[in-house]
Amino acid sequence: MKLIIASNNAHKLVEMKAILGEYFDEILSLREAGIEHETIEDGSTFLENAEKKAREIAEISGCCAIADDSGICADALDGAPGIYSARFCGHHGDDEANNQLLLEKLRDKENKKAHYTCAIVLVYPDGKTISAEGYLNGEITENRAGTNGFGYDPYFYLPEYGCTTAELDPEIKNKISHRGNAIRALVEKLKNQ
Ligand code: IMP
Repeated sequence: MKLIIASNNAHKLVEMKAILGEYFDEILSLREAGIEHETIEDGSTFLENAEKKAREIAEISGCCAIADDSGICADALDGAPGIYSARFCGHHGDDEANNQLLLEKLRDKENKKAHYTCAIVLVYPDGKTISAEGYLNGEITENRAGTNGFGYDPYFYLPEYGCTTAELDPEIKNKISHRGNAIRALVEKLKNQ
């Protein structure tokens, strides 16, 4: 069976292809499948957005499709930025502006705890779905550190590692990350069906 990953993000492609390779005959990115499609992410949860992305690609291609949606949730902000993580500052993809706004909103809060969440959904051509979620707990620090990763990583501190996720070796981040955990949880469900 052919699987299309509803993304062109190089990092996600490598990680998903490595873990899902043994369950599918062929795994392609959107670009490799020749699909140009932008899903409007108007769901109210990570799971809804991931399912919408995967379902649209499964319908367009007639193949299996997999998509994820992720973000960061701060406890003291009732889970914000949440599904708005990529555009928290008002426009899309400005990591530094997003981080500065998050720091500002948490400045007078005692509780700096936050977690990354990732929802991942696999949709089959007949519409059947398998979904899973993964998490990574940490806290937001004012002390920017590290150059690995992306997004909120330089300010996302892991007390048990004594560093931010931007200071972690990428291989270690994949082993403990919300995305890695979600993919592994999905694989467990695939194995058991
Ligand atoms: P998406 O799932 O690729 O749309 O990610 C949404 C947004 O969440 C990203 O633009 C980042 O701001 C944030 N995010 C998700 N995962 C991570 C991560 O592992 N590190 C840092 N930021 C992340």
